[in-house]
Amino acid sequence: MSLNLPYPWLEKPWAELLREGDRLPHALLFTGEAGIGKRALAHYLAQYLLCEDRTKASQACGICDACRWFVAGNHPDFRLLQPSDLDESSEEAESGKKAKKKSAVIGVDDVRELTDFVNLSAHRGGVRVTIVAPAEAMNTSAANAFLKTLEEPPAGAVFILISDHWRRLLPTIRSRCRVFPLTIPDAKVAMKWLSEQSVVNPVLHLAHTGGAPLAAADDANAEWLPVRSALLEKLAEPATMNVLMLAAELEKAKLDSSLFVDWLQKWVYDVISLGLTGVIRYYPDWQDALQRVAPRGHLLLNLMTELNEAQKLAHHPLNQRLMLEGLLFAYLDALRGQDRRG
Ligand SMILES: [Zn+2]
Repeated sequence: MSLNLPYPWLEKPWAELLREGDRLPHALLFTGEAGIGKRALAHYLAQYLLCEDRTKASQACGICDACRWFVAGNHPDFRLLQPSDLDESSEEAESGKKAKKKSAVIGVDDVRELTDFVNLSAHRGGVRVTIVAPAEAMNTSAANAFLKTLEEPPAGAVFILISDHWRRLLPTIRSRCRVFPLTIPDAKVAMKWLSEQSVVNPVLHLAHTGGAPLAAADDANAEWLPVRSALLEKLAEPATMNVLMLAAELEKAKLDSSLFVDWLQKWVYDVISLGLTGVIRYYPDWQDALQRVAPRGHLLLNLMTELNEAQKLAHHPLNQRLMLEGLLFAYLDALRGQDRRG
């Protein structure tokens, strides 16, 4: 028995990783769009490195003690460093410690705990593997603390960093990792997989996510679909948009700010693209709505920059409603030909 890859499109990157063999660097950085399986590949690699019965050279066995511990989430030589609001393990509650405060960042305390782990000798005598996901969630002091560990890696320590936005990482961290880019999977492979997951109209959902299949599967079933539709409908009718009301409604949905910015970015991209080249990339099912704004699409070019900036800040605890108001007013101003920074 052995452990198959979680997603078919990971075959090629997996083969590339295997080709490294013993020369696999101690720090890897998986980059690429959200929703293409970077995290799954990192876990697959971690289990492979920790497996103690690799009878098949290219896969973890799936049944040895190490594999079973890994799957159960309690391998002593494995750590997952992630923002604490994503940490759903109940270990802390059980051990009577206070639950960590909700946070979208990886703080310096988390990294210090990690450093202690990394500097211990491996319980099982093999490697100690750490996944950092997403690496850009480390705040500045955490990143600097982490950098020290990367600079003087203890023997046997392996770090796998995952990043949707690698440009936001400290250049010094980037330069200490082997960057391993994962690309958008082949559309045919992605569509076949989505169909197997019973996703209706996989082409459409792949378009919504720019070709990222895991994100497309979410897109097909997300609870927030009506929220996005409501936003896109309003964006198509700038003349009657009530920004304050819309921002307040969106805030009520209690969604991550980055999601709103992502929808705005894709909408604006499509408006510009449809206006300039007649091509729709993300929202082909909104063609009529996009068409209403597309003649003024060229006015939105500067707004793209503003949205990119907003996306960088979207993980920080800003006032969401103010942020939305700002972006929606900027959208209306731009369509009226008024660049506020103008
Ligand atoms: Zn195993």
